[in-house]
Amino acid sequence: MAKVSEIYGSMVFNEHTMQERLPSATYKSLIKTMKEGKPLEIEVANVVAHAMKEWAIEKGATHFTHWFQPLTGITSEKHDSFLDPCSDGRAIMSFSGKELIQGEPDASSFPSGGLRATFEARGYTAWDPTSYAFIKDEVLCIPTAFCSYTGEALDKKTPLLRSMSAVEEQANRVLALFGEPRQRIVPTLGAEQEYFLVSEKAYAKRQDLIMTGRTLFGYAPCKGQELDEHYFGAIRPTVNEFMKELDNELWALGVPARTKHNEVAPAQHELAPIFTNVNRGVDENLLTMEKMRLLASHHGLVCLQHEKPFEGINGSGKHNNWSLSAGKKNLFDPGESPMDNLRFLVFLAGVIQAVDDYQELLRMSVLVRTPPAAAADEAPPAIISIFLGDELDAIVDALIDDHEYTNAEKVAMDLGVAVLPNFLKDNTDRNRTSPFAFTGNKFEFRMPGSGVNLSDCNMILNTAMAKSLKDFADAMEGKAGEEFEAAAIDYIRDVLTAHQRIIFNGNGYSEEWTREAERRGLANHPTTADALPCFVEPKSIALFEEFGVLTETEVRSRYEVKLEKYNKLLNIEARTMKRMVRRAYLPAINSYAAEVAGHINAIRSACAGADTDQQEELLRRLLLGIKEIDTQLRALGKLHHETLEIESEQEKANTYAHEVIPVMDRLRAAVDGL
Ligand code: ADP
Ligand code: MG
Repeated sequence: MAKVSEIYGSMVFNEHTMQERLPSATYKSLIKTMKEGKPLEIEVANVVAHAMKEWAIEKGATHFTHWFQPLTGITSEKHDSFLDPCSDGRAIMSFSGKELIQGEPDASSFPSGGLRATFEARGYTAWDPTSYAFIKDEVLCIPTAFCSYTGEALDKKTPLLRSMSAVEEQANRVLALFGEPRQRIVPTLGAEQEYFLVSEKAYAKRQDLIMTGRTLFGYAPCKGQELDEHYFGAIRPTVNEFMKELDNELWALGVPARTKHNEVAPAQHELAPIFTNVNRGVDENLLTMEKMRLLASHHGLVCLQHEKPFEGINGSGKHNNWSLSAGKKNLFDPGESPMDNLRFLVFLAGVIQAVDDYQELLRMSVLVRTPPAAAADEAPPAIISIFLGDELDAIVDALIDDHEYTNAEKVAMDLGVAVLPNFLKDNTDRNRTSPFAFTGNKFEFRMPGSGVNLSDCNMILNTAMAKSLKDFADAMEGKAGEEFEAAAIDYIRDVLTAHQRIIFNGNGYSEEWTREAERRGLANHPTTADALPCFVEPKSIALFEEFGVLTETEVRSRYEVKLEKYNKLLNIEARTMKRMVRRAYLPAINSYAAEVAGHINAIRSACAGADTDQQEELLRRLLLGIKEIDTQLRALGKLHHETLEIESEQEKANTYAHEVIPVMDRLRAAVDGL
């Protein structure tokens, strides 16, 4: 077997390969483009394209594709071969700089939320040189941004890149106040990916899994996850073989898959990579999800990435570990000196303000059918709050009340002047019920469902953070030395006081919390239909426009796409349910009822006067059940048709969420009951 160090990144046109393959002048200008955003000259692109092609062909590639993320959230690719026929009947393999930099896929079938009329269906893809090209299944994949003829973003990557620049710009302004030179600042992402594996044979029997990715019917098994045997348990051989193949493929693609283990629910697993910049992190997560789905079939398995595939056991989530890195420094590390502590507090207060002010946007971004899937079976409420941990919480309290902070060992500290105690290294009491937890030197956003594209929530985090940092930098303009320090501490105190309501260290799944959150005025949007409208509120549009992340038109189109997707998913669920009831459950229950009736007759004719009370009781129960199923099925049919007629997508979504789903739940209960 090849060594991991040899496999790793072997299919990636990374810096190492670039240096090896490119003339030094070309290499230098490409690095300038990558690191400083300098535009790429076509002459340089031609040389890069040629080297890339030669490299790709050596690795067995025959085609290339612009790899992008349309608003469906998944990735898209259209393969073109390198083939270039000559007049003498032979062919050469060619790939030009222009083909590398720009593509023109026919975009009419991608969702655009009305942005791009079909008569001008052309969309453009443009190479994002900050993400490496790679070879996947004999295709050279070039990560690209995707935009319309008129320049509007039609993808998930473009606004993410814009939000990265926004937060970099504002973070640099803050660091300048601390006397630091301008530097490269990037948000980082480590995406823990949960998934389920089920056997292909079992899967093939389930219309609902095939059509919707989740079961729409089914009683809980006698043994679920209650014995806690699965979490971190020994990995079964078939699953292990799958995981090994997955690791190898991901490593070849330069995805640093690191941790794999069994999760809480039966058949549930997790993969965590080593974190990287958020742009590449999202790409890697999408590749990981794709490889999981494809490779499962090599092992007779199907990989489910729905956020709630089965009732009665845990849902499947994705943990979005997010931080800000400035070179080797993590900006959420308190550091050793008083000034480092102060800087840490500025960034901490920034996150608290950002998450409180834009809690609804964050909730909206996780777009899941059922209430958001944190790890547990008990449905967590759809309320955003931040967990800081006892020690940091005590520091925040001390700052707000302006009293001295004393920790367990009674070390007094004068805030902003003395060194913060080294509390982060043993910040171990992690609260698993918090949707947004500070975990040492990063924040873990745990609400996204397993199948979600993480671009949206990171775009929101970056932009909201840019806003907090901008407010701070604006307020501190022209201040230096002790005046700056005093003003900064006052500022932090004000921000923490204003936004303390978002901090919650208790059990996020408890009913008391739902009531307490309401008292605090925190938003609670149980369904996606309720959560989506905040996207187009003036406050949200103003935020995205202020930082050049999305224009109003782009926001509105994205909102439309999300609404449509939600409505389409529920339409498919309703149709699948109806069909399964009509074609599978009702016939099966009816024939069982007939069988029972036959038994009663047979018993009576064999033994006159025999007591068939029990059998008759069973038959009556079956008949009542059939009636209830039929009633709910008719109710669903009628309501579903009425819903499809509703013109406004938002109203349609509201109807699905608040009227159709309850009937679907009743239909399920009736079927499951039998
Ligand atoms: P847990 O299961 O306890 O939440 P894991 O160790 O499984 O934690 O995963 C933590 C994730 O956080 C990993 O993907 C890791 O790479 C990522 N991570 C660590 N530090 C950072 C950081 N500074 N920025 C972003 N992600 C980070
Ligand atoms: Mg985690």
